[in-house]
This record gives sequence, structure tokens and C-alpha cells, in this order.
Amino acid sequence: MFRTNLLRDKRILITGGGTGLGRGMAHRFLELGATVHICGRRQEVLDEAARELDIVAPGKIHIHTCDVRDLARVEEMISAIWADGTLDILVNNAAGNFLAHTEELSPGGFNAVLGIVLMGTINVTLACGRRWLEAKSPNQKRVVLNIAATYWHTGSAYVVPSATAKAGVVAFTRSLAVEWGDRGIRMNAIAPGPVPTEGAFSRVLPLPQLEKIALGKNPLGRFGTVEELANLATFLVSDQSGYINGEVVTMDGGEWLQGAGEFSDLGKLLTDADWQSLKPKKKT
Ligand code: NAP
Repeated sequence: MFRTNLLRDKRILITGGGTGLGRGMAHRFLELGATVHICGRRQEVLDEAARELDIVAPGKIHIHTCDVRDLARVEEMISAIWADGTLDILVNNAAGNFLAHTEELSPGGFNAVLGIVLMGTINVTLACGRRWLEAKSPNQKRVVLNIAATYWHTGSAYVVPSATAKAGVVAFTRSLAVEWGDRGIRMNAIAPGPVPTEGAFSRVLPLPQLEKIALGKNPLGRFGTVEELANLATFLVSDQSGYINGEVVTMDGGEWLQGAGEFSDLGKLLTDADWQSLKPKKKT
């Protein structure tokens, strides 16, 4: 789909890059010539990811144990990355989520998710953004890509901290797309629907019947793939999408629209006989 040197000389950081979608993006970016840094909280997960990713592009994958909620640690990581040169692209992908009745959540429950998704995105973006702005490099092409979720604009019951945080992430994305755009920094987001990953599916679709329901309400009748997400991310971080700024690209097979359309379920509810009886009668 892409020419093999599309991301050559690009230095990219993916938060939460040791697993799932983050790891898939790291794999694709490395294939296309980038140098990739990934971070997460668990050293052993990062080590394992690095072993696999090093085969794709030897010497080009770098790992950092870093909790994106911890500002001091974020600064340390970003300084270490900058020590070898300017980062070009940041992908804010780290997240936490779980199903819950909202009235049962403590402030700590909200904080756990808002801290990672919203404050984590803000912490890492500002650490990079301040450096990019201070450098005042003429014609610089820096990119921030934030991973949201389709419910950023609809909200969603039972994942309220995540929905609240993702809405904030999109507001942050669009605000800075305007504020920093004139200084060579583009900001976009992807809103994925369900894409099977260990992390997401074990937390939000933990029962087989929930997976079946999710498949049943998707117009394409399937889940997305990590490769599809990685390809979309590649386009959005590459210079080929240089005029896209402040955009949120949905990748969900049409799932949210299916849920939103007032009559969308009729295809499953009505029989052929029902449709026949609904045909306008010819006037005699
Ligand atoms: P995942 O595998 O669980 O990825 C989450 C990653 O974030 C993990 O590597 C985790 O590593 C890291 N992380 C969590 N807390 C962190 C922290 N405080 N500091 C640094 N890293 C942290 O799930 P995924 O499915 O790939 O999700 C990736 C992104 O896609 C998320 O933003 C998610 O909201 C979004 N998304 C996914 C789906 C889907 O169906 N897969 C749908 C919509 C949106 P550690 O635990 O080691 O820190």
C-alpha cells in the first residue's frame, strides 16, 4: 500500500506501544523506514515487544518504561529521546478502560482512566510541543496523532470515564491543531471501533456473548484489524497527509452510524413479507 521508504528518517514515539494497536503501528512504521520509540509501564512487556520488533528493523526500536501520568518521568523520557535528535511524530495511544455502573465509581476509578487517557496525552504532547515550538525550525513538519474512540462524540454508557476522557482528547486535538498549526505542527485523531486486542477485548468485551452482539451491530459484520488501523495511522502521520489538520477519522465499519440511524435495524427486524406489505399501493 505504501512505498517502503515512506517514513524514512522519521523518529516516532508511540505511548502504550508494547501491546495491541500501539505495537501494530510500531511494526508498520518500522517496515516503512522509521525509528520507533515505545513506552509503557511494564518492562517485561516492552522487552518482549522489542525482541519481536527488532527483527523487523534491527537497531531501530527503542523502549522506555514510563507512566504517562508521571510528568517528571515523561520529561526524562522526552529528554532522553531528544538527546539523539528531534522527534518528528508522537502517537498518543496509551489508555485504560473498564466496564462499570458509573454511580459505583470512586474518584479514583475516574482518575485511573482520565489520568492515563487525557492527562497522559496532555503531558506527552506538551513535553514534545514545547520543544518543537522553542526550536522554531523553519518549515518543520511535526505530527501528533491521538487515538480516541468512536464514542468520543456520542458518549457511551458503562465506559463513562473513557468516553469523557476521549472527548477531552478530541477537544485538545482540535484546539492545538489551530493554535500550533502555523508553526508546523499538525494534530489529528483516529476514532477506532472494535479491533481485537488482548488489552481492549479482555476489558470491554470480556464475555463471548458481548462479542457476538458487537459483530451483529456492525454493517460490515466483522471487527477491524490491527493492520487496517496501522495503515490509517501511517497515512495520517506521513507527509502525504500534510493538509489534514484537526481531523478525527473514524474506522469502525460504520458501527456508530448503524446505532445512530433511526430505522437502521429494520433490515434485521422485518421479514420479506413485511417489506412486501409496506410497498406503496398502486392507486386504482
Ligand atoms: P492495549 O493493548 O491495552 O493498549 C494500551 C497500552 O497502554 C498498553 O501497552 C499499556 O501498557 C499502555 N498503558 C496503559 N497505561 C499506561 C500508562 N499510565 N503509561 C504508559 N502506558 C500505559 O489496548 P489497545 O486495544 O491496543 O488500545 C490502544 C488504543 O486504542 C487505546 O487508546 C484505546 O482506547 C484505543 N481503542 C482501542 C479499541 C479496540 O477495540 N482495540 C477501540 C477503540 C479505541 P502498560 O500496561 O504496560 O502500561
